[in-house]
Amino acid sequence: MLPVFRKLLILSQRCAVCWLSLLGKVNVDAKKCNGCGTCASVCPVGVYELGEGKAFVVNEDECLVCKACETRCPEGAIAILE
Ligand code: SF4
Ligand code: SF4
Repeated sequence: MLPVFRKLLILSQRCAVCWLSLLGKVNVDAKKCNGCGTCASVCPVGVYELGEGKAFVVNEDECLVCKACETRCPEGAIAILE
């Protein structure tokens, strides 16, 4: 089987949890984000930066999974995956 088709076959057989694991630990829904900056203010390790009216994840590896950002985001735009 061609490598690309083999890869697609393996991906299509992943369970839902495995698909979730393809997402990063820190996920921001840009459509919901209003750029208020709360996440950047409360994060103790500087995971976020603000730009163009949105929050961007710039330092995901440092995330402590404290969920302060997820809890405080007024738009429910943040999902922290453990
Ligand atoms: S707290 Fe939520 S709405 Fe505010 S900048 Fe961060 S992700 Fe966007
Ligand atoms: S869970 Fe805590 S450490 Fe991780 S991005 Fe949110 S505030 Fe920062």
